[in-house]
Parts: sequence; C-alpha cells; structure tokens
Amino acid sequence: MKLIFLGPPGVGKGTQAKHICDHYDIVHLSTGDILREEIKKASEVGLAAKSYIDKGALVPDDVLLDLIDVRLGMQDVQNGYLLDGFPRTIPQAEGLDNIMTSKSHNLDAVISLTADENELVQRLIKRGEDSGRSDDTPEIIQQRQAVYWKQTSPLIDYYLKRNALKEVDGIGTILEIKDRIILTLSSNA
Ligand code: AMP
Repeated sequence: MKLIFLGPPGVGKGTQAKHICDHYDIVHLSTGDILREEIKKASEVGLAAKSYIDKGALVPDDVLLDLIDVRLGMQDVQNGYLLDGFPRTIPQAEGLDNIMTSKSHNLDAVISLTADENELVQRLIKRGEDSGRSDDTPEIIQQRQAVYWKQTSPLIDYYLKRNALKEVDGIGTILEIKDRIILTLSSNA
C-alpha cells in the first residue's frame, strides 16, 4: 500500500498517519519530521532547511526530491509507505511521479483530509503551547496556512484528474476519522 496524505497544517495528518501505518503495516514518512531530524543533527540539509521552516515557508523542491528519492530506495519501504507532508507543490508531485515510476511503485490513493480553516488555526495555536515547535506561533501558523492554500491545494485538482483523490472529513474523534479513512481505502468509490 502506497499512500499520500494531503491536508492543511493542523488537520491531523500526523496523528492519523501513525494509525493508518499501524493498520496496514507500512512506513510513515513525514518530510517535516525528517527535516526536523536533519536540523537536530545540524546536517547540511538541516542547516539549509531551518531558515525556511522558521519562516513558515517551503523548503526548495530539489532538496525534498533528493531526500525522497533516497528514502524510497531503501529496503524498509518496499512493502508500503504513507507520505505525510509530501508532495507540497506541483513540481514535487511531478518529481514524485518520476521517482515512483523509476522504482516501479504504484500509488494506491491520495487521502485529502478536510476541515474548516478557523478551527485549524485554533487547534495549532493550542498545539503550539506544548509542542515546542519553532513554527507553531500564531503568526507563522497563519503563514503556513496561506502557503498551503497557495502552493499545496492545487494538488487536490492534480490528483483528482488522475482519479487518485479520496476526500475524508477531518472533523471528529481520532478513531472516527481513522475508521473513515480505512473505509474509504477499502471501498472502490
Ligand atoms: P510539517 O511538519 O509537515 O508541517 O512541516 C514543517 C515544515 O517543514 C513546513 O512548514 C516546511 O517548511 C517544511 N516542509 C515539510 N515538508 C515539506 C515539503 N514537502 N516541501 C517543502 N517544505 C516542507
């Protein structure tokens, strides 16, 4: 099973991704987590990414595509993976298509988690009080939402056109949303 999770910051992609990966026994690949690890290690990629992340801007496409190309070549993901937070731009989606084709990986579905924007901002501000993430401040949260609608939401149309998109309502309890996702993935609709 090879999946992509799409959705604005705060919609619960990370939380749901963990549940869905446990359910299908696939690997959770969060580019945000990978970049934060690189920052902790003070690697070259981490140092290059930090200034973008702290501003709430996207890290350049070529950095992400190189990371994903290497990661999708590793043995542990050959049985399946869930991409969380990637792709985030049309060039990333096109690059991912090429990477997956070169590795003979088939995309099973793109789950688009939806929720009201105001509710998301409130959730993120609350998360920011205890997450310790440098980009969970109210100002940067607004910026990350704006970046999502401008640069990432065109992917909804991109994957709709390929018949890969499945929308799931992201409002409800964690278990309700998890069940909705599994039901959506198991139906052919
Ligand atoms: P996330 O944890 O997914 O919210 O990502 C946190 C931050 O990491 C984002 O605001 C971006 O600065 C950066 N980032 C994560 N994934 C990507 C991506 N696919 N493309 C560009 N920047 C990314």
